[in-house]
Formats: sequence, structure tokens, C-alpha cells
Amino acid sequence: MRELPDVLKDWEAVIGLEVHCELTTLETKMFCGCPNTHDAEPNANVCPVCLGMPGALPVPNKAAIESIVRAGLACNCEIQKHSMFYRKHYFYPDMAKNFQTTQGPVAFCMYGHLDLDVAGEGAAERPDGTGVDKAADGSYTTPVRILRIHMEEDAAKMNHLGGEEGRITSATESLIDYNRCGTPLTELVTEPDLRTPEEARLFMEKLRRIYLTLGISDCSMEHGSMRCDGNVSLRRRGETRLGTKTELKNINSFKSLHDGLAYEICRQAEVLEEGGVIYQETRHWEPSRRRTVVMRVKETADDYRLFPDPDLAPYDLTDEFIAHCAAEIPELPDAKRDRYMADFGLKRADAEQIAGDPDCAAFFEEAVAGETTKGAATVANVIVNDLTGYLNAAGIAISETSITPAQVKSLADLLASDAISSNQGREVFGLMAESGDDPAAIVDARGMRQVSDTGALEPIVDAVLARCGEQVEQYRGGNKRVVGFLVGQCMKDSKGKGNPKLFNQLLTAKLEA
Ligand SMILES: [Zn+2]
Repeated sequence: MRELPDVLKDWEAVIGLEVHCELTTLETKMFCGCPNTHDAEPNANVCPVCLGMPGALPVPNKAAIESIVRAGLACNCEIQKHSMFYRKHYFYPDMAKNFQTTQGPVAFCMYGHLDLDVAGEGAAERPDGTGVDKAADGSYTTPVRILRIHMEEDAAKMNHLGGEEGRITSATESLIDYNRCGTPLTELVTEPDLRTPEEARLFMEKLRRIYLTLGISDCSMEHGSMRCDGNVSLRRRGETRLGTKTELKNINSFKSLHDGLAYEICRQAEVLEEGGVIYQETRHWEPSRRRTVVMRVKETADDYRLFPDPDLAPYDLTDEFIAHCAAEIPELPDAKRDRYMADFGLKRADAEQIAGDPDCAAFFEEAVAGETTKGAATVANVIVNDLTGYLNAAGIAISETSITPAQVKSLADLLASDAISSNQGREVFGLMAESGDDPAAIVDARGMRQVSDTGALEPIVDAVLARCGEQVEQYRGGNKRVVGFLVGQCMKDSKGKGNPKLFNQLLTAKLEA
């Protein structure tokens, strides 16, 4: 099978996403007063409404509608003042009512867009001459239209035990937990504007940063509170008619989204190049085997018998309500990233990572309160490298660590003032995380402060130059990289305490003299 980006030179991939997000931060479910929590005993959070008992009547959760309106505004959608809830019928035990309450043709949020900035290796997936203007470094920006964001309720969680190779057979026992049934769920549908797996991944990441910043969900792809399906079809470059699409289901990580789409694009190209036919079907990505397999042939909308829910009155939003939602939108990740770059001189990648997580942004802002740009850039560096690495390894969130902004600031000060080298900085971070001690105290207790006094370093440099005649010859012969070896010798002689930058300067000056 040919691989990306080679395939995309001949074929245009047309990709659309459907992104489900549970509104995990709300206290109650969508249409009843049951708690909206995930840690309860199975089937503890249930009532006649979410179990679909005869005569039970639903009442919409106003806080959920506030959340989705804020999501819509942040995604540049037009908020629809008049919309309705619909019933989508199907038979499966995960929905006791035999229908899911969702929205009809008009959703609360319609016709939005987000702009994607694509750079680095991922930008190479989109070949030149395919409708975007690339900068000299290959990066580009492309808009992605959002058709709608609608409100619906989630289904129960099912656990199938037994059976063969994951298939449900007569030997399977199925357990149902209705705690999730009826919990508030948003679904965002994009127009098929994405052209590469990387663009799809970046869209999901951007949306996740926005939802996290709005505080409407914990957006955990791992735990399924944020999940997405990808629709993908191919057409020959220059063709305008859409090809038959397949749908990739239940993607649970950004990597799976990218790799699953990449595989599916290459698979479709191979089928089409061999004269085969693509069937409209739902496929499942198996990361361990690196392939997609058929789940089922797709239902059409008609099969669901959608009609307005007679138990729920049409929903009218007032200008006042929409203005109230707009007023509660905090500074969004892109604006925050730009501010960090302008005010603190952060690198774009660092600024984006910090601004994308509201807890991390709050941590950073506390650490750099009243700081200069050089100090702030060092703080950002410690957060993006040392702290993030530590949190990932420990499997905890920034809100769960005992490391404080003041400690990170103290470590950054030692680094920015050259009191310790970056290697020592990593060591001090580890000791700080372990002991909870202040970095300055750790450095003093271990005598780690690096020597930045030229008078003390010069004799070491002279001794190294005297003993390494061979390397000095190489340097003067044009091999400038040998200076790295000489710095290493100086560091060794100073027992790791000399300032490597200063050693480098002194060595270079003497060698060039
Ligand atoms: Zn309930």
C-alpha cells in the first residue's frame, strides 16, 4: 500500500468530523435531576425520566444550554433563537426510551468556523497547489466551517462479557449501566473542509483547548468524555464530485484520529486504483493491528424516524440570555497565546501549549507575575519541558501536583541568572519534585552554583589548552566543532561547576587569538 503524503498527490481526501463532548462540569443530567457524575455505583444515578418510565416528563437543563451557546459563540456560530428537540428512534438497550432526544434540522448553534494553523512536518501532508497559500517554511492557515453544534443526551454504557473475539454471540452476557443515560452531550459537525489527517488532528486539538477554556467539559479522549467520528472519501485531484465516504468510529486519541484516517485514505486509494468500489460503511480503527475493519453498513437518516418531541416545547432563546452567555466567555486560547507571545516573548509552540490548558495558564501567570520577558521565557521553558514531562510520567494533572508556581519561578531565576546550567536545572527539578524543597535551598545545600567568575575559570581553560594540543591543532585546522570536546574537559576539571557558556567563550577567544 502506498503511504501519505504520496497518495495525496494523486487523490484529494475530503474529511469531515463529528465531535461528541459530554458536558461533564454540569451538576445534573440533560432532562432530569439525576447527578451528572461518573464515579457512582452502576445504576445509582437513575430516575423515571432517564429510564423512560411511562408518564415521566423531561425538563431541559438550562445550564447545559448556556454551555452549548458559549461553545457556539467561541466557534463563531450563529446562535439560533428558535429551535426544537427531536426524537431519534432506534432499538438498543443502551436507551431505555427507545429513542434519543436530540435536535432537528435547526440546532442551537449553526454555521460557525475555526481557522487552523498548520506547520512543521504535518504541513507536508498537504501537497502544494491544493488551494492553500503556503509560507516559505511550508506552514499555512486554512478555515474549517462548522455546520452545527447541537444538544442531545448520551446513552447508557454497555459492557459485553464473553463471546468470541469481541463479537457478541449467544454466549455473551451484557451489563448495562444507565448512569450515563440522559447525561448532557453536545455534537459538533464540521463541513467536509479538512484535507489531511493532520488537519483533522489539529482541529480536534483546537476544539479541545476551546472547550477546556470554557470549562464546559473535562474533554478526556481517554475516558470518552470527548470522542469523534471521521468521515472520509477520496476523489481524483481536479474532480469536483464527492466520492463515497466511510465513517471511522470511536476514535479515542489524537494519534488514533490521525493514524486511522491516514490508513483509511491509503486503503481507499488502493481499492480505487485497482478498479474497486468503496462502500458506505462504518469502520473501526484497530491501532494495535494498524488497520480499519467494517463494523456495519451505515443507516440513513430516514431509518431513525426523526420527529419533534411532543413532551418538549419549542425552545426560544432571548437576546438577554445570549448576551449573558457571551459575557461569561473567558479569554480564548488563541488570544491568550498571542498575548503571551507579545507580552512575554514566548515561542509560539510554548505559548500555545500553556494557553491551551486553563490550569496550566493560571499556573504560568501566577509564576510570572511582575516578571521580565527573559524570566518569563525561562519559566515557560521549565513548565513546557520539566513540569510537563514530570506530570506525564506521574500520570497526574497540573492541578494535582504539589509543585507550586513559586518553586518553578525560583528554579527559573537560577537558570536565567546562570547560577546553574540547564543540566543542573533538570537535576534540581527532580530533587524539588521529590522533596518539595525550594530550588535555591537545594542548590546551596549541594554546592551546585556554577562558577561564572572569569578569574576562576581562566586557569582551568589554560590547563586544558596546554594538555590538549592535538585538539587545538584540529581547531586551528578548521574543525571548529572540537571546541565542544574542550568545553567538556573544562567542565570535568571544574567538577561540573563551571559555567559552560563562559568556558565556550573563553576557549574560543583564546583559540582565535
Ligand atoms: Zn434521571
